[in-house]
Amino acid sequence: MPELPEVETVRDGLQRHVSGRTIAAVQVLHPRVVRHYPPGPEDFAASLRGGTVGDASRRGKYLWLAVDSAGPRGQPAGTPADALVAHLGMSGQLVLGPPDRPLATHVRARLTFTDGEEDLRFVDQRTFGHLLFDPGGATLPAALAHIAPDPLEPAFDDELFAARLRKRRTGIKRALLDQSLISGVGNIYADESLWRATLHWARGTDVLRRAEVFRLLAAIREVFTAAIGAGGTSFDNLYVRVNGESGYFGTDLAVYGMQGKPCPRCGTPVRREKFMNRSSFSCPKCQPRPRHGRW
Ligand SMILES: [Zn+2]
Repeated sequence: MPELPEVETVRDGLQRHVSGRTIAAVQVLHPRVVRHYPPGPEDFAASLRGGTVGDASRRGKYLWLAVDSAGPRGQPAGTPADALVAHLGMSGQLVLGPPDRPLATHVRARLTFTDGEEDLRFVDQRTFGHLLFDPGGATLPAALAHIAPDPLEPAFDDELFAARLRKRRTGIKRALLDQSLISGVGNIYADESLWRATLHWARGTDVLRRAEVFRLLAAIREVFTAAIGAGGTSFDNLYVRVNGESGYFGTDLAVYGMQGKPCPRCGTPVRREKFMNRSSFSCPKCQPRPRHGRW
């Protein structure tokens, strides 16, 4: 599943390769891709056609492109730009390439541009990802209003996060995966950040010290920044960068997927524990299990 660094890598690619171009046509090849857009595929395509793409933005794992469609939609000048919102789901990819290449099986939507250069394809093997059009949503699409800022956004407030977190009565990892509290942290980066901050994933949020929360935030930012620099993590072939290349960061993981391998800090074999329907990886020595954890 793409996590924040992967999505940021895609955002950066969209900003460099798609911003400033004018959409010639939109093809919806599978109606499921616009299932969260009630007006449907035809309206989706018509709303975007003729629009000029502005900046590419991200909140957590959502991406959106500002689309200045004042012309085709007949809106007066000064109307806030619209947004094309994308969520990559489990396996979604945005891929650029020559417009005349064949349409692969899992292409769900395709945008062509008036310059006749590279087209943009939304490829999704498992169809959990989706696209939608948000009129006037360029600043912050309505679909994202319930999602907390991610820790790399300027809008993220460390003090507010610490206060809200410590009011919860849950385990720290569960809290990190709660998109209403903090967005963009998935299973992999939660484990990596908790290892870096030397906190066990089941530590109760209500007993965390303020300094520990700040240490954790610093760890999350370090892990994200390193992953973005490496082009995102890829554990399978489902994720492909916006230019069609896979990103790899796997060799830099300290604990995730490293059961039995030595902790890079102390050499103790990495432990795997059940967490929800998945696993949590941690170092038994650096991240001692809390006596009264919240599992
Ligand atoms: Zn260790």
